[in-house]
Amino acid sequence: IIQLFVPLNFLGFVYREIRRAMTDMQRMFGLLQQRPKVADAPGAADLALSPDEAGLSFDNVSFGYSGKRRILHGVSFEVPPGRKIAVVGPSGSGKSTLARLLFRFYDPDQGAVRIGGHDIRQISQDSLRRLIGVVPQDTVLFNDTLRYNLAYGRPGATQEEIERVVRLAHLDGFIAQLPEGYDTRVGERGLKLSGGEKQRVAIARALLKNPAILVFDEATSSLDSGSEQAILSAIREVAARRTALVIAHRLSTITDADQILLLDHGRIAERGSHAELLAAGGAYARLWKLQQRDGAENIPAKG
Ligand code: ADP
Ligand code: MG
Repeated sequence: IIQLFVPLNFLGFVYREIRRAMTDMQRMFGLLQQRPKVADAPGAADLALSPDEAGLSFDNVSFGYSGKRRILHGVSFEVPPGRKIAVVGPSGSGKSTLARLLFRFYDPDQGAVRIGGHDIRQISQDSLRRLIGVVPQDTVLFNDTLRYNLAYGRPGATQEEIERVVRLAHLDGFIAQLPEGYDTRVGERGLKLSGGEKQRVAIARALLKNPAILVFDEATSSLDSGSEQAILSAIREVAARRTALVIAHRLSTITDADQILLLDHGRIAERGSHAELLAAGGAYARLWKLQQRDGAENIPAKG
């Protein structure tokens, strides 16, 4: 009985650990309530692109999470390699959904998402996810050490590489005052990090992964404006040679984007550079005036 009990108990442990890791993954991507719907196409190819090949496009994309309610309506835009597109718009307008479709958590109901000209349904999910680094809106940390959480996107990273991105993400001071430093356990069963600290871990993680395409989903929204400016300049530096999709909370953080999309109820209501949109005098210009006048607080509820 004892001989049987031990392996079963061990299997139970392994099972729980795997469940926990899966749950961490799902929570990290906000997918707890959903089943993964996407699968690799038969013979899906691995796609490896350098940053100067990795442009992306949405071609007439329509999408709804469930059959009934459509969230995106015929969304089309193109980001040439190395360029930066910003997406702004009210909470619930579908901004994060764009990022989820690009990462292929879901497939569009109509239209296509392409990277380097390839429909992402035709490339392996592993290689797709290697191409893209995401700083999500709400970062969930793994129940593991800070080092593990930082190096997650590139497990073989050296201490020097980790320290470099930690400085860029302005986490060095925070880590220096932890008694166990990089070996501090974080996550739900360890040290609880503030929203801003978690965002910085996610930013450092994405910078370390160093992907061809970077996606920032309101990635600095939990930071005070001082740290935000400092981190934005680090992000700008890293994103300079990469294709970037930046979902923004404060318009002041994306004025330098090559193109800005204003999303409203899942449709692109306005598009252009910051100067063009101001000159057009539409919703973007009104939002800009509002935010300039009332400061960063007056923003449609973040979502
Ligand atoms: P934004 O990022 O612009 O605030 P989202 O893309 O997160 O908006 O959401 C767009 C719409 O899709 C919202 O109405 C939201 O309630 C809905 N939605 C988001 N995620 C899901 C989901 N997993 N299942 C069903 N509806 C969702
Ligand atoms: Mg969102």
